[in-house]
Amino acid sequence: MQNTTITPCQYCTGRMLGSGTYAIVREAIHIHTNQVYACKIINKQRMAGREYLIRNEIAVLERISSGHPNIVTLHDYFESVRNVLMKSHMQSPRNMYLCFDLCTGGELFDQICSKRHYYEADAASLVRTILTAVKYIHGAGIVHRDLKPENLLFRTQAEDADLMIADFGLSRVMDNEKPLLNGVYGTPGYMAPEIFFDSVDAAGHGKPVDVWAMGVITYLLLAGYAPFDRDTPEAEMQAIIAGDYAFAPAEYWANVSETARDFVQACLTVDPVRRPTAAEALEHQWLASAAPHFVADP
Ligand code: ADP
Ligand code: MG
Repeated sequence: MQNTTITPCQYCTGRMLGSGTYAIVREAIHIHTNQVYACKIINKQRMAGREYLIRNEIAVLERISSGHPNIVTLHDYFESVRNVLMKSHMQSPRNMYLCFDLCTGGELFDQICSKRHYYEADAASLVRTILTAVKYIHGAGIVHRDLKPENLLFRTQAEDADLMIADFGLSRVMDNEKPLLNGVYGTPGYMAPEIFFDSVDAAGHGKPVDVWAMGVITYLLLAGYAPFDRDTPEAEMQAIIAGDYAFAPAEYWANVSETARDFVQACLTVDPVRRPTAAEALEHQWLASAAPHFVADP
C-alpha cells in the first residue's frame, strides 16, 4: 500500500463501477500516472454510529490485502472535503475513500445471471479458488462474514480471469481471548444459522459462517437459484435455521454429480462445530478432482 503523507490526493473520479450496502464504487484515475483504480466512496453520515466498520475494513485490508492473489488489493485511502480529494487529518471530512486495484471483469453475480448456471467443472474451479483465499483469511485470524457473488469480482474480462474476494466491510479480526463474534451481520440468504441464534441466545459465531456462505454460493453456481429463497424474510430465516433446502426441482440438478451435492451438503451443515473448516472443504473429493492437471512434456 502507498505511504500516504500530507500531499493532496490526486485522483479524479469517473464512471460508477458498482454499489453496495454502504458505499458506491467509481473508477478513479491517478492524475500523474494515469493508473485507474476502483475507489470505494463511503458516506460517513450514512455510517453514523458505525464508523468502526470503516476503521475495521481498513485494518483488515492492511493486514491481508497483498498477502493472497485472490484478495483485492487496497492501494490507498483518504478522506475528502467538497469533492477535493485530500489526505485524511487535513479537515473535517464527509466521505471516506478507499482505492483498490481495479477488477475489470465485474461481479460473479452478473456472470451467474447471464450464464444461468455454471458447468460443474467450472463451478468447482471457482469454488476452489475462493476457498483457498478463505483458508488464507481464516489463517490470518479473520472472518469475512459477507461472502456472496456481489462481493466476488473477476480481475479481468478474460474467460479464465482470477476471481477475487472483495468487500471486507463486515469482516472482523478474531480475538484469541474471545473466539466468537456476536451480532446479526451479513446478507440474509447467505447467513449461517448460528448468526440468527445470536439474536436469541448470544452463542456467537466465527469462521464457520464463511464456509456456510460457500455452500450457498456453490448451490447457486450449480443450479442458478439460491437454496433458501422464500416468500418472506421470516420464512427464509426459518429455512436456514432448519437447514431446509433440497436439490430440486430435479431438472436443474439432473447433470450435477453426487460428489458436488455432497460438497454442498457438507458446507450447509447446520451445526457449525460439525461443518468442515475451509481447509477441510478444500480436501473434499469434488474440489480435489477439480485441481489443475499438469501434463508432462512429451
Ligand atoms: P459495499 O460494502 O457497499 O457492499 P463493496 O466493497 O461490495 O461495497 O463494493 C460495491 C460494488 O462495487 C461491488 O459489488 C462491485 O460491483 C464494485 N467494486 C468493488 N470493488 C471493486 C474493484 N476493486 N474493482 C471493480 N469493481 C469493484
Ligand atoms: Mg458489497
